[in-house]
Amino acid sequence: MESRLFIAGRYVDAAKSARFADIEPATERELAEVASASADDVNRAVVAAREAADHGPWPRMSAEARAGIIGKLADGIEKRARELGTLEARDVGKPVSECVNHDVSRAARNLRFFASAAQTWTHEAAQSDAKFLGRDLRLVNFTERPPIGVGAIIIPWNSPLMLGTWNLGPCLAAGNTCVLKPSELAPLTSIALGEIANEAGLPRGALNIVPGLGAAGAALVSHPGVDAIAFTGGVETGRRVMASAADSLKRVTLELGGKSPNLVFADSNLKQTAAGVARSIYRSQGQSCVAGARLLVESRVAADFLELLIAEIPKLKIGDPLLEDTEYGPLISGAHRERVHAIVADAIANGASVLAGGKIPAAPATGYYYLPTILDNVDAKSRAASEEIFGEQAITSANATRYGLAAYLWTSKIDRALRVAERLKTGMVWVNSFFLWDLRTPFGGAKMSGLGRQGGRFSMEFWTEPKLVCIAYGEAERDE
Ligand code: NAD
Repeated sequence: MESRLFIAGRYVDAAKSARFADIEPATERELAEVASASADDVNRAVVAAREAADHGPWPRMSAEARAGIIGKLADGIEKRARELGTLEARDVGKPVSECVNHDVSRAARNLRFFASAAQTWTHEAAQSDAKFLGRDLRLVNFTERPPIGVGAIIIPWNSPLMLGTWNLGPCLAAGNTCVLKPSELAPLTSIALGEIANEAGLPRGALNIVPGLGAAGAALVSHPGVDAIAFTGGVETGRRVMASAADSLKRVTLELGGKSPNLVFADSNLKQTAAGVARSIYRSQGQSCVAGARLLVESRVAADFLELLIAEIPKLKIGDPLLEDTEYGPLISGAHRERVHAIVADAIANGASVLAGGKIPAAPATGYYYLPTILDNVDAKSRAASEEIFGEQAITSANATRYGLAAYLWTSKIDRALRVAERLKTGMVWVNSFFLWDLRTPFGGAKMSGLGRQGGRFSMEFWTEPKLVCIAYGEAERDE
């Protein structure tokens, strides 16, 4: 298993051989000692990416030629689906079936989608007349979309391959080069991309990978050789990234956290909704940016619905993420589990009741496991999340958070779904479904959940510099 930096097409040690311990959440043991990039190492990576952007073949190739190589990168990921999925399951603690069948498969599809988007994307042109130096000129104006240059892609630990490729795909397909900074908590599958990129024939320096701590991310963001930053992670870090980028006016997109509500209407199919809501909350042990962490249920079905939802929990097979039928693994780290438990304990101390979970399970005895949890009556605001009131108040409650990533509506009435969707202050609304993302459509958050969108033309616009070219090509015809 490779655990070093990947710079200019080669795996190399960090300066002074600095390393950090990467802990496996299910065993609590060290999985790897990973090279820890310093500011000097980040500089080496940016210099390599800069050289490849300014003088290398990648930005100068046709979109079709780039798509061929990106397609091979996707093939390489698919060929290693089991190996990469198992590595991600060990590194993140997510069930291996989810890693192999969802995340790794999506990573390959993300790359292919954007390679194709770059080939099929066309740009605006306009004809006009203007007076210049006494002549009436005919003009043709068109937009070029050259790559912006060097991209910094910073990702969190919860779905490294899937989140990394959401940006690697459009960044590379548009002809940029980049430096990828994975999270210190789960860097291994990102590091593996270097070898796959070499096999696919990606030119040296087009992709560089710098595992490291937060300081490595900060060094990358502030580096003058970086032109654009795609950051995925927490709100507080996102704020720091944006402040740093402001100094040099770098282009930034932020994909941040959420506290997304599930709104359950009495007219929905309650059994199916309970299964859908359980999935939205507990997939990836709740460690998903789009997790449906708040629940608002129409009062007249609240008791029935909660019974159905509670009945979903024992169906979740909790255990070793490497077993094929496991559906719920450990949390990412001991520190994270302590934080989760402190929040639950605080809610209980303030009058919340525990309807399910709320504690560490007796088994498995090793690993950072925490039971799937439902809290009721958490506080004045979230009281509405699990019982009583609906209509106007439900929309107000759903919007009563600093976040605005996603919302889930469970109803059989299309007019109600559309009416409520319009009033929710979120970047995404899923009706009777959870996180089914068509890559052509915008993914991202409102309010403090982010800035900018990913997907289709939104990503292509971010990763290119719109350039106007205006050509005066002759005199305008005058009426005789
Ligand atoms: P985090 O913000 O702690 O870290 C994210 C990345 O930023 C890591 O690689 C980290 O090393 C790096 N980093 C830390 N300090 C930095 C700095 N000063 N400058 C630049 N980079 C720095 O987040 P996390 O705990 O790894 O991930 C969890 C968060 O990510 C949650 O809030 C989750 O909701 C969010 N998330 C959002 C999306 C989305 O698409 N909206 C997807 C997945 C996760």
